[in-house]
This record gives sequence, C-alpha cells and structure tokens, in this order.
Amino acid sequence: MSFITLVDRPGAMYDSYGRHLHYLRVSLTDACNLRCVYCMPEDMVFRKQASLLQYEELLLLVRVAASLGVDKIRLTGGEPTVRRGVVDLVRGIKSVPGIRRLTMTTNGVRLAELAAPLAEAGLDQVNISIDSLDPARFRQITRRGDLEDVWQGLIAAEAAGLEPIKINCVVTRGFNDGDVVDLARLTFEHPWDVRFIELMPFGKVSDFQHSQVVPSTETRARIEVAFGPLIAMPGWDGHDPARPYGLPGAQGRLGFISSVSEPFCEGCTRLRLTADGKLRLCLLRDDEADLLTPLRAGADFATLRQLMADAAYHKPWGHRLETEEIPLSREMSQIGG
Ligand code: SAM
Ligand code: SF4
Repeated sequence: MSFITLVDRPGAMYDSYGRHLHYLRVSLTDACNLRCVYCMPEDMVFRKQASLLQYEELLLLVRVAASLGVDKIRLTGGEPTVRRGVVDLVRGIKSVPGIRRLTMTTNGVRLAELAAPLAEAGLDQVNISIDSLDPARFRQITRRGDLEDVWQGLIAAEAAGLEPIKINCVVTRGFNDGDVVDLARLTFEHPWDVRFIELMPFGKVSDFQHSQVVPSTETRARIEVAFGPLIAMPGWDGHDPARPYGLPGAQGRLGFISSVSEPFCEGCTRLRLTADGKLRLCLLRDDEADLLTPLRAGADFATLRQLMADAAYHKPWGHRLETEEIPLSREMSQIGG
C-alpha cells in the first residue's frame, strides 16, 4: 500500500491522509549547554557521540529525504550549536540538491561567535528561544543561562542576515507567565516575530509540564490588557504552527503555538530525524522508524528511500493528549521540538 504512494507520486512523500511531507526537522544532538526546567531533568544524561548520526550518515539521510521531495530543513537539538562541526554540517546540508531553505532553532548562547560563519555556510534563518527578559528569571528557567550571551547572539544573528528573527518563548506558569508583556513589547522596537508556545508534556517532566501549562487564550488576554486588541493577520495557511497576530504600530508579529489547546495537525507537513537516526513521525507520538540500524548494516540509497517513504506514509493523524496519551519515550531535548 505504502509502496503505491511512492510510485504514484514519484519524488514526493505523502501520508495516508494526503498530507504532503516536505519539511524535515533534524536534531543534531540531544546534548545542551542549558537545562531548561520544562525541557529536561537537571541530571539529564546525554547520548554518547558514537550513537549519534555521524557527518556522512546524516548527509546521506538528508539526500534520501531530498530525493523524496523534502525541500526545507530546520536544525535543532538539544542545542544544535554544541554539535562539533556544526558549520560544516550546515554547509554540507545546504549543498544537497533540492534543499531550498535551511534554518535553525537555537538557545542563542553560542550565536555571538557562530552566527556569521553559519550564515556564510548557508544557514538562512534562526529561531532563538528566550523565555524572559529578566536576567534572574532567565537563569531560573534555564538553570544556568546568561541572558546577555543570548542577547549578543541575537544581535549577531540579525547582523549576519539570519532573518526574519523569530523569538520562541515557552510560557510556564509560576516562572514567566508575567513576562509575556515585555517580550511582546519587543515587536514595537524591532522587526522580530515573538512566538508564545504552550507547554507540551513529555517523558520524565510531564507532571511538571501538565501542572504549569498556560493556555494561549490566557497569554493573548494578558497581552491585550497591556496593549489593546490583537489583530489576526491574514494569510495564515495552517502550515506554520504559529497563528499570527499583530499589535497596531508594531514592526514584528506575535504568534501563538497552541499544540495542546488548538492543535494544528491538519496542516502538518513535518517529519523529524532524531540525533540517533530515528524518523519520528509526530512530535507528540512515540511512533518512530529506525533508519540508523539499516544504514549501518549497509542498506543502499534505494532501500533507505523506501524505508523513509513507507514510514512517512504511516504518519499518525495527530496527538492524543486529550485522552492523556503522553509521549514517554523521549524528553523534548531528544526530539528537537
Ligand atoms: N535548544 C534549542 C532551543 O532551545 O531553541 C533547540 C531545541 S528546543 C527542544 C526547541 C524548542 O522547544 C525551544 O523553543 C524550546 O523552548 C521548546 N521546548 C522545549 N521543551 C518544551 C516543552 N515541554 N513544551 C513546549 N516547548 C518546549
Ligand atoms: Fe536546551 Fe533548548 Fe531544551 Fe532549553 S529548550 S534545555 S536550550 S534543548
């Protein structure tokens, strides 16, 4: 059955619901230089380097994906900038025929030094995670981060042309739910998009995530009390998980990623490649296909291509958080968001 999809529509991946899967999020590592409270336990142990996809293996799987119509890749982690050789990886991935757009989601800590070389190697854009503009609260949430490093990284990213700059903020009750107004204010001062993400439950920290979730409706209301009514921006096609809004007079936009309260599964065009070589079919479901084992056993390009297309065909429709089915096999840092 899945074979038919590949043959009928050569060069493109579709799932059984007819969604065209052309966007791959690639996790370069599960390791991170921060330990955000909502992402991983403080004593998180990271994988050994040898269990991760190596440079050539990663590029081979990107070539396989591109041969199936993947044209957009976002690098993530863990923290992608702590992966050794990240600039060369960017250069290698961007030179794969068919890869039109290469972006990265990062905590920004290393961007002051890396933004220019990454842009030169072919990176197009960055999303930077900043949960608070208050240095003490930033430290509390990240357990070890220095806000000034991230701010310098953001400025360097803008100077390097990694635009549009998008800031991601996970709203966590009792930590930064009061900081959303300051973050929204940035859109008046800069042409940056600020996106507020609802906390999603995963693995070992799912109890915490459940109890501290702030629905997007509450975040929107808080911003409207400060700045007046948000204006829904036209042209949202459902493929971008962030529903865009604007404030009168602002240069940048606000977005709300409401995976829990307003799922956007219908427009999902994404697949994920984990740092240990599994094709993860949905962020919030544990269904995965192992590509690393066959790759290391000598599977050729055509076999890997068929494995990827077959797995993609079985992408589940969406998550089942409403029935308390929580993905437990990995922490968020091991998938990449
Ligand atoms: N380290 C990079 C960063 O923080 O931007 C990339 C990886 S991180 C897992 C990707 C995104 O997922 C970040 O914006 C982060 O804030 C977000 N995130 C992490 N844990 C989350 C959770 N439990 N629910 C919602 N978003 C989460
Ligand atoms: Fe690291 Fe990103 Fe997770 Fe924070 S959200 S611990 S920066 S992977």
